[in-house]
Amino acid sequence: MERVGKQLNGAVAQRVNLMAMAEPCVYDLHAHTFYSDGALSPAELVIRAAANGVQVLALTDHDVTDGVPEAMVAARQAGIALVPGVEISVTWNARVVHVVGLNIDTANDALQVGLARLREFRDWRAEEIGRRLAKAGIPGAIEDARRRAQRGLVSRTHFAQFLVAAGYAADVRSVFKKYLVHGKPGHVPGAWAGLDEAIGWIRAAGGQAVLAHPARYKITATRLRKLLGEFREVGGAAIEVVSGSHSRDDIFRFAQLASSYGLLASSGSDFHAPQNEYADLGRLPRLPDGCTPVWQAWGTPATAAAV
Ligand code: AMP
Ligand code: MN
Ligand code: MN
Ligand code: MN
Repeated sequence: MERVGKQLNGAVAQRVNLMAMAEPCVYDLHAHTFYSDGALSPAELVIRAAANGVQVLALTDHDVTDGVPEAMVAARQAGIALVPGVEISVTWNARVVHVVGLNIDTANDALQVGLARLREFRDWRAEEIGRRLAKAGIPGAIEDARRRAQRGLVSRTHFAQFLVAAGYAADVRSVFKKYLVHGKPGHVPGAWAGLDEAIGWIRAAGGQAVLAHPARYKITATRLRKLLGEFREVGGAAIEVVSGSHSRDDIFRFAQLASSYGLLASSGSDFHAPQNEYADLGRLPRLPDGCTPVWQAWGTPATAAAV
């Protein structure tokens, strides 16, 4: 990939020892900043990733790419490669699934027009969550969530943080269960991108579409197969086999599914904050043998540097 290649050239020029590395490169291809629901700035994220040994980091904020330019500059300084990315919210068969775009041209119009539409819906949804919580006897939620989201879009994570801080639940995990999911007072059904639409935007922007954390979707095995089939059919390239939210069993199950559907395998922590309930940046198991990594066609840092 040219963008990664260019970036790696710069990186290797600064840290020559990368070229001599015998170990496989450390990839983390799913991470968030405060432009969506993460806690860190892009520069802080990159510095933490580099400190944890990540050599290729993808920034994949929800429905927004505003953090990419700052992350690019920080990555050059830190001597690591930055893959411009995004995590698109998708409605598929009345459920929400997430599609990560890797190596996207963030200046692409189709992509940006699409993401802007999703952020408009997000904005309306945030107000609606606020109204519904108020009706359920919880005032002030939208104001507080907006304050928490000052640098980026409003996510359910911000409402969850408010509800915990205001004492409505013990932690973020239980707050989602009690207030923010289907059938609960603060739940608003999604009207996100179509699966084909999201993948279309990613491909229009020259990127690869990756189905994020497939083990997290609470769907039957039959439905999951339908999702993977459709995903592949409309141009999806890879699934996250290794994810911060996947168990060992999930990893092996999705490695098999990736192979049988002819999909590449990706690996990402889904890092949000230093107190993350999932994995820290770069602290991920290796892809199981038999997977074809999504980065296979990108070239290794050493070969990219030699070009
Ligand atoms: P949104 O895109 O605004 O609907 O928010 C979705 C985000 O909320 C996800 O990306 C996660 O970061 C977070 N989230 C969703 N479900 C949970 C959960 N059960 N526990 C903790 N965080 C969650
Ligand atoms: Mn999130
Ligand atoms: Mn996600
Ligand atoms: Mn994510």
